[in-house]
Amino acid sequence: MPEVEFDRVEKTFGGTRVLHGVSLDIAQGAFAVILGPSGCGKSTLLRMLAGLERVSAGEVRLNGRRMNDVAAKDRDLAMVFQNYALYPHMTVAENLGYALKVARVPRTERAARVAEVAATLQLSEMLDRRPGQLSGGQRQRVAMGRAIIRRPRVFLFDEPLSNLDAKLRTQMRIEIKRLHLKQGVTSLFVTHDQVEAMTLADRLVVMNAGRIEQAGTPSEVYHRPASAFVAGFLGTPP
Ligand code: ADP
Ligand code: MG
Repeated sequence: MPEVEFDRVEKTFGGTRVLHGVSLDIAQGAFAVILGPSGCGKSTLLRMLAGLERVSAGEVRLNGRRMNDVAAKDRDLAMVFQNYALYPHMTVAENLGYALKVARVPRTERAARVAEVAATLQLSEMLDRRPGQLSGGQRQRVAMGRAIIRRPRVFLFDEPLSNLDAKLRTQMRIEIKRLHLKQGVTSLFVTHDQVEAMTLADRLVVMNAGRIEQAGTPSEVYHRPASAFVAGFLGTPP
């Protein structure tokens, strides 16, 4: 059974249809990248999976359960956004551990998991700092840490690297891939950046105007584009 299923999903906002029957299965442990131009419906698709938007028609399923039937606290997923907001008055350690505190994880276990995540993300030296004392890249790592500390089954990324400079973006791509391989979680990563998509994906899904144009391995999609749009968007040589 796929971990994530979009089954003929439609979405309308005030009479305007932005998703037209999107169907997509994502296997457990996959790193799926949804690539497409701005406004094609990528965030809407991800937000439905996160339970932040309701489907207008069709179904979104997580491990076979309809999303609408799963209470927010039981959705075993975590989302990292482009504009990640850290709590400015909390230290890095407190930011990392906050979700565990809310979930009433005992203090000693919380401390151990904060230390583990900080080590993974190279934040161990900064646990007592506040977000204002960190660089952009360090803040983004804290935002990732806050998500992974919950050990979700599914990780959702909505253009999390768009606000970073080119060098940092490359570093973070490597970091995200390394984390994915280490943790074996299912990841859905949304981007409009072709290079980011080609380097991260083991499954590439190209979207345009509320529809999936093509899904496959990056190599298949690049070498055998299913439409002129896909070829043009990926810059496949004619
Ligand atoms: P992407 O993430 O690919 O840039 P979005 O999913 O954000 O695209 O948006 C898809 C379309 O839906 C866009 O035309 C956008 O303007 C519209 N849209 C998104 N959210 C809303 C909303 N809450 N209300 C009205 N229209 C929306
Ligand atoms: Mg978006």
